[in-house]
Amino acid sequence: MRIAFATFSQETNSFCNVLVDLNTLRQFTVKGEDMRRASDGAHTYLGGVYDEARQRGVEIVFTRATSLKPSGPCHEDAAEECMNEILGCLCREYEKQAYDGIILFMHGACATPKHPDVEGEMLQMIRSKLGYEIPIGMVLDLHGNITDEMAQLSDILIGCKCYPHIDEYEQGRRILALLEEKIRLGYKTYHRLVKLPWHMVPAQGLTEGDGPAGDVKRLCIQKEQEDPDLLQLSFFQGFPYSDVPASSVSFISVAKTQEAADRHALEAARYAWDRRADFAIPLYGAEEAVALALQAEKKPALVHESADNPGGGTAGDGTDLLREMLRVNVPSAFGFIFDPEVAELAKQAGVGNRITCLLGGKTDKLHGEPIQLTDAYVRCVSDGRFIRKSPMGLGGKNSLGTTVCLEVGNVQIVVGSFRTQTFDEGPFVTAGVDWELLDIVALKSAQHFKGWWGDKVETIIPCESHGVMTANIRLLTFTKANPDYYPLGNADWEEDRV
Ligand SMILES: [Zn+2]
Repeated sequence: MRIAFATFSQETNSFCNVLVDLNTLRQFTVKGEDMRRASDGAHTYLGGVYDEARQRGVEIVFTRATSLKPSGPCHEDAAEECMNEILGCLCREYEKQAYDGIILFMHGACATPKHPDVEGEMLQMIRSKLGYEIPIGMVLDLHGNITDEMAQLSDILIGCKCYPHIDEYEQGRRILALLEEKIRLGYKTYHRLVKLPWHMVPAQGLTEGDGPAGDVKRLCIQKEQEDPDLLQLSFFQGFPYSDVPASSVSFISVAKTQEAADRHALEAARYAWDRRADFAIPLYGAEEAVALALQAEKKPALVHESADNPGGGTAGDGTDLLREMLRVNVPSAFGFIFDPEVAELAKQAGVGNRITCLLGGKTDKLHGEPIQLTDAYVRCVSDGRFIRKSPMGLGGKNSLGTTVCLEVGNVQIVVGSFRTQTFDEGPFVTAGVDWELLDIVALKSAQHFKGWWGDKVETIIPCESHGVMTANIRLLTFTKANPDYYPLGNADWEEDRV
């Protein structure tokens, strides 16, 4: 059996002004043999698909993989080039030697002004060239905004189940296994998509631990274990910062009968909807969050910024929390803030010297004002490289570009040159910061950091700073997402209408 495999993944934050152009897109694209090498041994969706294929004796036809960091929308020409290239690869390979199925890994919340549903569009393009008979398996991120087109044009649509997404590798294996069995045994699969009138923010979505999102995840898994007709039941939290009509929480089932698909998706949706009030979270400003951290019995306490989480397409140079830490001036470290200009300035000055500069707050006007630093001590200059220790992407080679540690009073500030969230201690380690004996460690991430930090620190405090991933979505102006959906409005869910 041969299965073709392609990836085009981007999470679009409509409120971010950093757009993806053709150059960026090409920079994050691998093809053919390079895609195989990137998959081999990786703890990612790609690695999972490849390992499961080898175990089942399936030959993978590697075509093209574009995996972009979350940011503002793609330019139209970039998105269209990527989709056309994937389609071209799939068609050329099919002409050379027909394969038996296709696996697509996409995000589920990729949008451009012209294509509010890039994933549905990609499926439509493939179907129009290769027909409706060839089985397509699709794996999406838990933050996908699922559309009818995605459900109708794919045969098996699943998501990752965990947030932090520590199960990407396992779900990569699962999509391959499900598609291989469907092709080998020849059974038909049925979807049921249930969309709830609900905008859930990532800060509410932790599935590990006792919270409501964890209860929903466990219910989905329990249903899969109890009913052999139910192949997968996915809880998609949606991504409200992608301002598209399809933005919402949704459930999608894949089953061997339509009855099972309908029943399980509706029951899980009903359970989550009835518990929606339980998802409320506290919103601490920077001052309150730091004050709470100082009260923690066991040090260090960790404070994290969800609203400026580059993992959801924010600027990464927000200054609210760092400014408050500098004011309080207890032994602490901030890992990290994005500011390539300052990193370069410090590198030029060299270790042991001092620099005066404006730090952060440069990408837009939505993440706080720049901080004036005077005679900041350059403690460390690094190439920013480290190996990922987080269970998400474990073992992967990471780089923040030129990375420096500046010391201002008792605060050590890590400044990096690549926008990404902090998953583990990598940004601290590469900048020479020994965080364990400090009072406060701070970082920018909504939930993924908990995959590694969760059992390293006792106290974790969310900080609701200024940023385009604010948990208070009433602060944002939506133009395409439904303003009646909970909690913006009072829309109720009428099951029969779905
Ligand atoms: Zn996600």
